[in-house]
Amino acid sequence: MKQETTVQCSAEVCGEGQWGVFYPHRCSRKATVEREGKQYCKQHDPVAIEAGHKTRSAKREAKWAAEEKAEKDTDRKQKEVMDKVAIGAELAEAVLAWWDKHVRDSGQLDSLSDRMVALAREFQKAKEE
Ligand SMILES: [Zn+2]
Repeated sequence: MKQETTVQCSAEVCGEGQWGVFYPHRCSRKATVEREGKQYCKQHDPVAIEAGHKTRSAKREAKWAAEEKAEKDTDRKQKEVMDKVAIGAELAEAVLAWWDKHVRDSGQLDSLSDRMVALAREFQKAKEE
């Protein structure tokens, strides 16, 4: 049986209208939905409120996921850089070892090996700083 009479929302609210902030009172809006035998206006419909919470928490989770992804990207990029630095360090070491073994005492320095050795030393110095 459907009643045509206007039913008031059964939610208790604070801080609205003439009642001031600290007095809970019945919502004065017209009820539009019934939930478990109680009448609610659109704004206090528990199902709508719950849906709103879900939307908000979904947004929060999306934000967290995006932040986590950004963090992972940063970590990955940092790792890539560190990997390159490690390769550079090995190369510098190899060049200097080669220079020690084959070039230093042979007196056969040319501008190219000079340049390689200088770069290798520069790299090692920069890495230590
Ligand atoms: Zn209400």
